[in-house]
Amino acid sequence: MKQSEIRLLQDEPACEHNKEEKSGCSRPIPGATAGGCTFDGAQISLLPIADVGHIVHGPIGCAGNSWNNRGTRATGKNLFRLGFTTDLNEQDVIMGRAEKRLLHAIKQLITEHNPPAVFVYMTCVPALEGNDVNAICELAQQRYDVPVIHVDAAGFYGNKNLGNRIAGEVMVNMVVGSAEPPEKPFMKHDPERKVHDIVLIGEYNIAGEFWHVSPLFEELGLRVLCCMAGDTKFHQIQTMHRADASMVVCSRAQINVARKLQENWGIPWFEGSFYGIEDTSKALREFAALLNDEKLTKHTEQVIAREEKEYENYSNLMSAS
Ligand code: SF4
Repeated sequence: MKQSEIRLLQDEPACEHNKEEKSGCSRPIPGATAGGCTFDGAQISLLPIADVGHIVHGPIGCAGNSWNNRGTRATGKNLFRLGFTTDLNEQDVIMGRAEKRLLHAIKQLITEHNPPAVFVYMTCVPALEGNDVNAICELAQQRYDVPVIHVDAAGFYGNKNLGNRIAGEVMVNMVVGSAEPPEKPFMKHDPERKVHDIVLIGEYNIAGEFWHVSPLFEELGLRVLCCMAGDTKFHQIQTMHRADASMVVCSRAQINVARKLQENWGIPWFEGSFYGIEDTSKALREFAALLNDEKLTKHTEQVIAREEKEYENYSNLMSAS
C-alpha cells in the first residue's frame, strides 16, 4: 500500500477526532493500551465473516491462536474458526518461495472447504519481501473461479485503527455491490407492507450479544441485510449497497464504510450503540427517523414502552430480592 493511500485513510472527514493534524484516531495517552498492529485490526474486523476462508500470509506468529478469535459467534458455516496461514519460515524468505506457498494455500483451502470467497491478509514479512499478492490473488481467482480478495494491511503500516479502516475500505471497493439481496419480504405484523433493509457497521456479535437485540428488529419490520461483521456471510457484505439506512455501532473504527455507503449509494447513517436500554431505544428511534416512516415510528414507540416497562419490573424485582 502506498503512503499516499495510508494518509487518505487517516484523513477521515466523518471522524470527529480528525482535526488539524489529519492523523486519524487520537493517540493513546501514557498508560493506555495501543492495541495490535494494522494487520490485527484488519483481521479482527473481517474474521467474523464466517463462511469465508481467511488466509494469513506470513509467519505463524502473525496468525496466533485463531480459535474462536475474540469470542464472536455465528450461525451456519463456521469456516472462520479454522485458521489458515502460509506459515512462512526463513527458508521460504531466502529461497523466494512465499508467493508459491500462497498460491498453494489458496488452492488447498478452496479444494477442501469450498468457501464463497477467500481473504488473503498481508503481513510484515511478505510486504518487506515485496510479494505481489495482488497478482497471486488475481491468478487464483481466474484459476478457481472464486473471489480471492487481498487485504493489504501489513503490521508496520500503522496502528490497529488503520487496519479496521483498511478492512472496511477493501469491502466497500471490492465486495459491496457485487450481488443483489433476496427480495424484501412482507412485515410479519403488517403483511401489506414490505420490510425496510438496514445494515450495522462495527457490530461483532461478541458472545452472541447481538442475538438479544435482533428479535426487536424483526418485530419492527426491519431486515438486517448485513451486520459487518458479526454472524455475517460473504453474500450479505455483497448486498450492503441496497440498505435503506445504516448504523455505526459504538466504535468509530469503520466510520469510513458508513460515509462511503452514503456517498456511493445515498444510504443515510447514524452512530449509536446497544449498550443498555436507553441506547437501544435511542438507536431504534434513530432508525425510525432516518427511514421517515410514520407507522414505523408509532410501532417503535410501542415496542420501546413495552421493553422499558419490562426492564422496570425486572429492576424492581432485583432490588426487592
Ligand atoms: S506487526 Fe507484523 S509481524 Fe507482528 S503480528 Fe503484525 S503483521 Fe505480524
